Amino acid sequence: MAGREALEAEHPHAAAGEPIERRAAGGAEPTDDDIEMSHIASLHHDAVLFLHFLRCRVFGRNAEFHPRLREGGHVPENAPVKVPRVKLTYAEVLFAIILVAAAGGLAAAQGVPLPRPRPLPPAAAVSSDEPSAPEAAPPTACRLRLTAALATAPSLPPITGPGECGAPDVVRLEAVVLPDQSRVAIAPPAILRCSMAEAIVSWVREEAAPHALELGSSLKTLANLASFDCRGRNRIVGAKLSEHGKGNALDIHLLKLSDGKVVGLTDPQIPRDFREGLRQSVCARFTTVLGPGSDGYHEDHVHVDLAERRNGYRICEWDVREPAEASSAVLADTVPLPRPRPLAAR
Ligand SMILES: [Zn+2]
Repeated sequence: MAGREALEAEHPHAAAGEPIERRAAGGAEPTDDDIEMSHIASLHHDAVLFLHFLRCRVFGRNAEFHPRLREGGHVPENAPVKVPRVKLTYAEVLFAIILVAAAGGLAAAQGVPLPRPRPLPPAAAVSSDEPSAPEAAPPTACRLRLTAALATAPSLPPITGPGECGAPDVVRLEAVVLPDQSRVAIAPPAILRCSMAEAIVSWVREEAAPHALELGSSLKTLANLASFDCRGRNRIVGAKLSEHGKGNALDIHLLKLSDGKVVGLTDPQIPRDFREGLRQSVCARFTTVLGPGSDGYHEDHVHVDLAERRNGYRICEWDVREPAEASSAVLADTVPLPRPRPLAAR
């Protein structure tokens, strides 16, 4: 505000609202600072005029002090205008400040080219809650093979940790698409590395679904008891890392058919041939199969994984029991004896 008074003192004939040029003695072009100062002074001047106009309208005070307002804004462009000094209330001062700020912002938006906002760097554009994701790797050969024609299996970020746990190329296997386009749900969806998911998909399409037809209905759901799970073998703390901790294992509990039938894989009441057919098929496709009779931890489900061992060594331990055998096995399992089994992944 003092700036305008100082400028008006220097330029007593400048019209109100008219930009005041402050030229150097040599007549050089005005600098950016001069133009800016002129803008501010002009805005201040207009704000005060507008304020007086409002006061007169609202409070009925006479408006004769300002010739431009009194004459309906008709004054010669070059006529000098003297702005009277008036006492302002706090509310009026506040209003004037807001008005000037708004007018200044508008003027800046209209007249002064502002620097373009810089684009955010990639790290800042990502949610700050999560560590910045590494650059997306190209899809693996497995990922390219596991198409929507075979399964609903969206990709997930690689799992890293805790500890030794982790898996690259992870998918969430939600459903298998059969050759007739019907779907077998994986319930709940299994979190698996792609190669394991692909093996499950192939087994369901080529073995489980055709075998289920032997029971008189089509396969509808595969019950997933455990997929990725960062833990030691058989849930024993401190034991060697389970293949589940690598997203490389699946525990299958039971199958559900379209007619509502529930088929427990280890249920001795389910036709033996059906269970034997499944046993042979998983032992041919997975490097580890653990079911009833393996170690006491797999009496009610079957564990399958793709653990890699020296010389291609495989484990296939699933006793397909008759009903009488099963009941005696259950009795035997009630005796709390340790059953040390120095075997591989569970
Ligand atoms: Zn398991």
